[in-house]
Amino acid sequence: MAFLCRILGHRWNGCQCARCGETRDTGHLFETAEGKCEKTCTLCGKVEPMAHQWHHCACTHCGLTRDKDHDWFATSECEEVCRICGQERSSHAYVPHERGVDKCRYCGKLHRLTPEEIARRDEEWEENGGC
Ligand SMILES: [Zn+2]
Ligand SMILES: [Zn+2]
Ligand SMILES: [Zn+2]
Ligand SMILES: [Zn+2]
Ligand SMILES: [Zn+2]
Repeated sequence: MAFLCRILGHRWNGCQCARCGETRDTGHLFETAEGKCEKTCTLCGKVEPMAHQWHHCACTHCGLTRDKDHDWFATSECEEVCRICGQERSSHAYVPHERGVDKCRYCGKLHRLTPEEIARRDEEWEENGGC
């Protein structure tokens, strides 16, 4: 700390002392970065986050996406895609079709079981007394 600052106190210019260059965490001169949800102090460089402008799952300001509030759009009876970020989700109602294969009762999509799944199912059948 400079001698004068010690006697007279700092000469604050925003968050920075014009005399000794010391900074404080108040009086920042924030500037918003283009396309970013944060602001930077032009004097000391401190970066502060700002609230995102969420429109469903994407921020309209910085383009960040999050995994919630998607704008779902149905592409088939069981499948949906988010209009905004392109994420897909499906909720098929699979029922056993033949050994090792399930079929969705709504859209007819086939789902092949893995060998482990088949083995597990065989076990379940035996436990339930199936023949
Ligand atoms: Zn000072
Ligand atoms: Zn500052
Ligand atoms: Zn944002
Ligand atoms: Zn989305
Ligand atoms: Zn389906």
